[in-house]
Amino acid sequence: RQSTVVITGTSSGVGLQAAKALAQTGQWHVVMACRNLSKTEEAAQSVGIPKGSYTIIHLDLASLDSVRQFVKDFRATGRSLDALVCNAAIYMPLIKEPLWSPDGYELSVATNHLGHFLLCNLMLEDLKKSSASEPRLVILGTVTHNPNELGGKIPPRPDLGDLKGFEAGFKAPYTMIDGKKFEPVKAYKDSKVCNVLTMRELHRRYHESTGITFSSLYPGCVATTALFRDHYPLFQKLFPIFQKYITGGFVSEEEAGKRVAEVVADPAYNQSGMYWSWGNRQKKNGKSFVQTVSNEASDDDKAERLWELSAKLVGLA
Ligand code: NDP
Repeated sequence: RQSTVVITGTSSGVGLQAAKALAQTGQWHVVMACRNLSKTEEAAQSVGIPKGSYTIIHLDLASLDSVRQFVKDFRATGRSLDALVCNAAIYMPLIKEPLWSPDGYELSVATNHLGHFLLCNLMLEDLKKSSASEPRLVILGTVTHNPNELGGKIPPRPDLGDLKGFEAGFKAPYTMIDGKKFEPVKAYKDSKVCNVLTMRELHRRYHESTGITFSSLYPGCVATTALFRDHYPLFQKLFPIFQKYITGGFVSEEEAGKRVAEVVADPAYNQSGMYWSWGNRQKKNGKSFVQTVSNEASDDDKAERLWELSAKLVGLA
């Protein structure tokens, strides 16, 4: 039987390459969940994802209505859901003023965390019905979530604080989860801490009762992706060179996509609650290992509190 995986944000970068790696096996049908359908179709064709091995369905993670509609549209296909990959993200390091989602939340946290949080909660029901022996839910993390690691030391550091901004309802004038001043780079890093906390809380709440494997990964520094498109042009030019020749952290989009595909499909990754990494300094044939997450991302009380507040913000509670 062919399995079905939903991957968010497959119009470029890591998600596109993960879609390709899974579709190519012939064992997976990939549902590409994207906000720009024609861009995604062109991208799928340009990297040679076999026709018939994928379906594109509209999803704008910034909009909670769109997330709900996506789930309805997916269910209407009649497919069973065997894996879900939360991959899409935005990073807007240069903006001075916050941008807002249709629901009135700061855009990067709304897209990267709240949209995925609602999607995971709704699609948990679909994953529970999967007849696959190892249904999985994978959320992309990043080294910058962790100030204990070299790649995470550069300020501003992520810090959800005591979740004041979320507690206050996270609408203007609140722009940051900790309730402090708007800082777009920190907003991205905070959202990635939320991604790891969400994965761990999903594991704590649902792994035993459902058998679903929940995991996260740092795919390596994929310095060429469109994630950096809103950065200075000079940064976009120098960052891949710096990562290739100085830090040794550089990973191609194709390699990163394969890593995601492994975490989705390879029996070796069937351990729930784990955060996988291939390290910062990439070695040829380097092996993956379970990486310790940051102090904040391993705080179980915070994970629970974040869950409760996020559920309120997306209308689940
Ligand atoms: P890209 O910018 O190439 O891909 C991001 C994808 O997300 C695109 O398909 C984009 O679609 C989609 N997306 C953005 N906003 C929305 C939205 N509102 N609704 C639906 N889809 C949306 O970046 P990467 O491939 O680099 O990033 C993928 C993941 O990998 C992210 O979670 C990132 O945090 C993580 N990561 C990346 C690293 C890197 O070095 N690049 C390192 C560590 C982790 P569109 O084309 O429409 O904008």
